[in-house]
Amino acid sequence: MTIDYSTLYIGGKWVEPATAAKISVHSPTTEELIGSVPEAAEADIDMAVAAARSAFDDPIGWASWSSSERKHVIERFAAELEKRSEDTAQRVTMQNGMPITLARAFEGAFPAVMLRYFADLAVATPQEEVRPGLLGGSTLVSRLPVGVVGAIVPWNVPQAISFLKLSPLLAAGCTVVLKPAPETVLDAFLMAEAVEAAGFPPGVINIVPAGREVGAYLVSHPGVDKISFTGSTGAGRSIAETCGRLLRPVTLELGGKSAAVVLDDADLSKTIESFVGATMINNGQICWLNTRILAPKSRYGEILDTITDVIGSMTVGNPLEDSTQVGPLVSSRQRDRVEGYIAKGISDGARLTAGGKRSGDTGWFVQPTVFADVDPKSAIAQEEIFGPVLSVIPYIDEAQAVAIANDSEYGLGGTVWSSDPERGTAVARRIQSGTVGVNGYQNDPTAPFGGIKSSGLGRELGPEGLASYQYPKSIYLDANAG
Ligand code: NAD
Repeated sequence: MTIDYSTLYIGGKWVEPATAAKISVHSPTTEELIGSVPEAAEADIDMAVAAARSAFDDPIGWASWSSSERKHVIERFAAELEKRSEDTAQRVTMQNGMPITLARAFEGAFPAVMLRYFADLAVATPQEEVRPGLLGGSTLVSRLPVGVVGAIVPWNVPQAISFLKLSPLLAAGCTVVLKPAPETVLDAFLMAEAVEAAGFPPGVINIVPAGREVGAYLVSHPGVDKISFTGSTGAGRSIAETCGRLLRPVTLELGGKSAAVVLDDADLSKTIESFVGATMINNGQICWLNTRILAPKSRYGEILDTITDVIGSMTVGNPLEDSTQVGPLVSSRQRDRVEGYIAKGISDGARLTAGGKRSGDTGWFVQPTVFADVDPKSAIAQEEIFGPVLSVIPYIDEAQAVAIANDSEYGLGGTVWSSDPERGTAVARRIQSGTVGVNGYQNDPTAPFGGIKSSGLGRELGPEGLASYQYPKSIYLDANAG
């Protein structure tokens, strides 16, 4: 039985789409059709932006409410999501192959955590202050919501990435048009059902699944005040160009090629679960994964053996089964791309120590793969593969490790592994990246997340994430007035 929808959630209602176009979703595990939804057209985007616009501009609407008033509705939203969390996890796994245990944590549970964190943060952060000035007067400084946000998300972690945007923007008082990626649309309809049940004012959240052309239309729409995008660096550059021309604020979370620096005092056997979590979860389809492993020459053979054993023995299979550690890639196109990089790694002289082949006859599976002796300048060490492929690169000393880690066009994630956390932190300070973990990696909601260089612009999460959906307004109070 397939999961099919025929209407779109816009302006607080389920409405007929402007055209008969459909997005069909195929299982990456069985390759069978699993569902379909209407594909939003430009006219649907117009309707969604108009709904978000009037919800934002309503003088007694969402943007005018206090943070505490908004918190009540946001908390109901979190509770409604929790009621649907197992269904949401299952739908994500069915569509993109994310192992179900990961989907339960990232996609089922984490959105409600982020919603509650930002609702509380907005209540705890004064929205106005009077600042004594240096010129004799004072200034009333307010933090105001930026307005209507166009939020565009990818397929790899569709719910958590949507809530990296929705949680702060809702807490700040913005309204939103959310465009999910065509590969993962069925979970977005469960989200819409939760929005409806939570009782948001109509138009605060509108959901319009579509492809890149319609996404580009949303980016340039005159009714939108800010764009928040997560996806590839190529698409991010094109969106940044549009936003630059329009002088429209934009947050960009883009690609990565992060490094795991294993120091010569590291005991990987003690931290192996965290190490796999930082390098190989979600079938290698996470932007911050540490797919370059830098290993000291003094312990190279032993570290390579550990990584080869652990990665090479991961359980590949149906991602809906709890025991599965590696599921299929999201699409045949993505599988072909990853296979292309594996072939390139071999022809460039890297040594395959695990995987390297397709797995099974049905579904878009690639075995978890490890390359040893990788040249840090080669394509597999420089380009984002977005699949289960690790490159192990030897280094001589700490200075060289840091230089190799920083020799990248990206700067999103990274880790340092050491028995001495202080030494690990000292090396982490030298890594040019927006985020680095010591003996593990976690996107904590309280910490700003985002990249430098070609990994993006701006930050999500933490107080910085909330501030990115606000603009400060100064009202000068003359000392002589009144
Ligand atoms: P993609 O850029 O092709 O698509 C992402 C989303 O943007 C989709 O919804 C797509 O329809 C839309 N889109 C694409 N081009 C657009 C355009 N010109 N204008 C408006 N919308 C457009 O990326 P993908 O292949 O689906 O996702 C994988 C990429 O996302 C990887 O590069 C990965 O590193 C990156 N990513 C980054 C982060 C992060 O937080 N930095 C998180 C997850 C994924």
